[in-house]
Amino acid sequence: MYFIPQPKFIKEQEHTSSNTASGYIATNAGALLEGELKRFGSSAACVEDCGLYYAILSSEKSITLPELPAELDDSAVRKDGFYLNAGENGLQIVSRHPRGVLYGWQLWKQLAADETNFFGTVIDYSDTAFRAFHMDMRYGFPKFERMLSIIDELSAYRYNKFILEYENRFPYQKHTDITDPLHFTPEQVGEIQAYAAQRFIEIIPLQQTIGHLEYMLKLPQYYHLREMRNFPETDKPYGFNSVGFKHYNDIDEICASNEDAYAVVESMLDEMIIAHPDSSYVHLGCDEAWNLLSCKKCIEKFGVNGANRLYAGHINRMAGKVLAAGKTPIVWDDMLRHFTDSELEQLDKRIVIMIWLYYESNYKLAKQLTQRLCNAGFTVIGAAASKCGEGPEPQYLDMPWYELRMGNVNMWGRVCAEDGIDGFCMTVWSNYSGTIAPPHPFFDTIWYPVLFAAEKMWNLDAVSDGFDERFASSFFGVEGAALFHGSTATRFKCIERVCRECKRHSYEAEVIRAMELTSIYRLKALAIGRELYKLNMDVTQAEKNIIRNRAHEVNAMREELKPLVRGIVAKYYSESDADVFVRSRFDADEALMQKYLS
Ligand SMILES: [Zn+2]
Repeated sequence: MYFIPQPKFIKEQEHTSSNTASGYIATNAGALLEGELKRFGSSAACVEDCGLYYAILSSEKSITLPELPAELDDSAVRKDGFYLNAGENGLQIVSRHPRGVLYGWQLWKQLAADETNFFGTVIDYSDTAFRAFHMDMRYGFPKFERMLSIIDELSAYRYNKFILEYENRFPYQKHTDITDPLHFTPEQVGEIQAYAAQRFIEIIPLQQTIGHLEYMLKLPQYYHLREMRNFPETDKPYGFNSVGFKHYNDIDEICASNEDAYAVVESMLDEMIIAHPDSSYVHLGCDEAWNLLSCKKCIEKFGVNGANRLYAGHINRMAGKVLAAGKTPIVWDDMLRHFTDSELEQLDKRIVIMIWLYYESNYKLAKQLTQRLCNAGFTVIGAAASKCGEGPEPQYLDMPWYELRMGNVNMWGRVCAEDGIDGFCMTVWSNYSGTIAPPHPFFDTIWYPVLFAAEKMWNLDAVSDGFDERFASSFFGVEGAALFHGSTATRFKCIERVCRECKRHSYEAEVIRAMELTSIYRLKALAIGRELYKLNMDVTQAEKNIIRNRAHEVNAMREELKPLVRGIVAKYYSESDADVFVRSRFDADEALMQKYLS
């Protein structure tokens, strides 16, 4: 059996006894562990206080803790490490931080899960301290229980930060009209944080403040706060950007000269800060605000070349609010890439800059940006993508391009190792460009790259070769399944086997199976869709019959997929989310086929 992350040092001992002794229990590493230990004994063991955190199962009442190995020094990055010793006298897990004890306990449970009762020692520690997961709620609103189970997964794979981009799922009190009917209650926002905190995961709220405010600016009552009021006139009736004349649309950005717009975003930011009292960071977003300086007022105020000055002023202003609340602001890096040294100098150096680059081929750029920003005095964290890095390419609309995703993780691991940055964030984008865009691959297609990122952040020298078998072993409990290799048919056979044999995560296996099929459907629908014109032309009946037969195969496949995909989405999301997802996949080509076949 494989473990994710792979322990750094693991040494198994021969043993005759079949079970770890228990009876006496003790821990000082939090209520969660206390609850778990109670399944193994009810009598409290006496443990000598030596300033460490521990979890103990023992046949003896009085316990002397083992000394920590030299590898587990008190540097910040090694604090999450643990020493585990399991033998005939019981189990001892010790760490400098309660989080380390939890990780040791989770490993021990994994060791026990497949009935390979483990006697021996483990020394394990992380190579990075900032191990973040991110998700946005632009498309889809997971049920509350699902949010909690996602946090359980993150904890099991040792993520310690969770950047939560609520979008309009946050219960804004002053601007209630911004909040979607499907949203977290204030109590749920608190419960999510408490649940994560018990698992030593910090929730970092993300509140956009300049761009990507589609969820607000699409509402008529906020139109007047937009930066772009009209689409620009061009000499051709089309633009060369894949998504329109300007980079996105006219509802992305607020006008930076409009104090009414600031009053709204600052009020939203204040609420976000207050609702996360224990978060040490607040992510301010501030990415992809490419349409700034589109309005006359802004051009007058900042000058035609004043975009960077406008932007620097904005993030200093927003960061000031976060810093005043005793927290550290984070911003995405993309708008700073073309800043001069003197423009960078104008920014508050307490801002953490998160560089998002989603391809292995970005390695050189990632290093350049990292070094430049570090030299300028900023703390830098990386960001990789588990899906959506492919953009709106149709063949990756239903499944992430895993090969690229793994390469992306490898790239950030390399930059962390070479340039000493302390971790990265694994992003999960629900769609490509803001609240109004259609959903991209379904959430639960992410776990393969997400677990590899967990492995990489813990062990910077981890390799992606063979990781799919390790993933199948650890995540599904199925051995010898090279899940994401070979032809489409081979892969499909493999995921079918995993669906039949899996010991855990059967839902996620079913998601991959359904979405691999949807992916196959997508390519068929595209290929056959472009042949349909022949049905309206003067070609032989034999040609028309071939096209009709192909189209009927696509139709049959779609009818089989629709209820399957709907069921998968509806299990953890709302009925309306399921409806949106199914329509986004099938509506348009169903209408097209009907038009030609009728
Ligand atoms: Zn403006």
